[in-house]
Amino acid sequence: MPSSRRLLLISTPVGPLGSGLGGGVELTLLNLSQGLRARGHQITVAAPSGSSLADVTVVEVSGQLQPTAHTQGRNTPVILPSDSVLGNLWRYAQQHQDQFDLIVNLAYDWLPFYLTEFFGTPVAHFVTMGSLSEAMDEAIRQVARQFPKRLGAYTRTQAETFGVANAFEILSSAIDLEQYNFCASPGDALAWLGRISPEKGLEDALEAAAIAQVPLKILGKLEDASYWQQLCDRFPQANHCYLGFLPTPELQAVLRQCRALVMTPRWVEAFGNVAIEALACGVPVIAYARGGPAEIVQQGKTGWLVEPDDVQGLVGAIARIDQCDRHACRRQAETDYSLEALAIRFEQWFETIIQN
Ligand code: UDP
Repeated sequence: MPSSRRLLLISTPVGPLGSGLGGGVELTLLNLSQGLRARGHQITVAAPSGSSLADVTVVEVSGQLQPTAHTQGRNTPVILPSDSVLGNLWRYAQQHQDQFDLIVNLAYDWLPFYLTEFFGTPVAHFVTMGSLSEAMDEAIRQVARQFPKRLGAYTRTQAETFGVANAFEILSSAIDLEQYNFCASPGDALAWLGRISPEKGLEDALEAAAIAQVPLKILGKLEDASYWQQLCDRFPQANHCYLGFLPTPELQAVLRQCRALVMTPRWVEAFGNVAIEALACGVPVIAYARGGPAEIVQQGKTGWLVEPDDVQGLVGAIARIDQCDRHACRRQAETDYSLEALAIRFEQWFETIIQN
């Protein structure tokens, strides 16, 4: 095992940790911190004020939150609000860089990529979404040219969206299995989990559940209120299906009793942490074969991959869901997505950067 490293992990500036606004990044940051700490590394997390991250100490930094990248168009210029928390987080990093062997950026924002060359301490970037804007693509490609090996991504499909897939270390994701209980005999309902925002395609899950005449449980951060209103107008049952944004213990208690998780992304989902949370509970995943889920689901064994945007395909998969083996789902989570394996992958990536 390499020597203990002092690592500064910088969170997304779109919301405090615990708010759900950061999506899967929040869980990834927690898993990474705990996994790396268990391997003897010293972890400091810097994040917007109001953040909490289980038992991990967080340096809270104030300032205005950043608009989320997926709500902007491809040609939107770089945006920085006044007294930007993103700027303030990176000022903190600049002022404290000598105390660390490596700084790890988890923000999908232009500024940290641009700043990379001005830091004495190396900066590694774990990119958490696929290509969304020209400005970000260019900033990422610049780092790829100037600092090969400094880019990490969840999945190959995600890395390919930037046109420089070979510059990325593919690191996947992980799950703390002890937080998720296996359930062998579920009820009738399906689950849909995630930020309620158009790129997640919740309408298709609502439609498929209505056609299949099975209940749907919706859990997640209500990110886009007008989109949610449209869904409620179109599917009056949606309001009854929505259980709110739940912390992990409650989330898994609901999820594990579901027959399947339905994932309906309209975008190239970078990974889809919810998929491995479902597998950890023994819940098979029905997903559009687009982005991360296509690299996770084992067809016919731990779920079904469906032609993207094909609601009838979802309905067909719902009818076949009992062919999947819930024990195989849990086993896949155990073998492919352990916290230790994640920490080792990141540790090896970090070492190649630090020793360069
Ligand atoms: N989540 C949660 N409570 C909920 C619904 C979702 O904590 O009620 C979390 C879930 O555990 C997952 C994240 O929201 O970590 C969604 O991440 P994912 O990678 O699936 O998608 P992203 O939001 O990053 O696009």
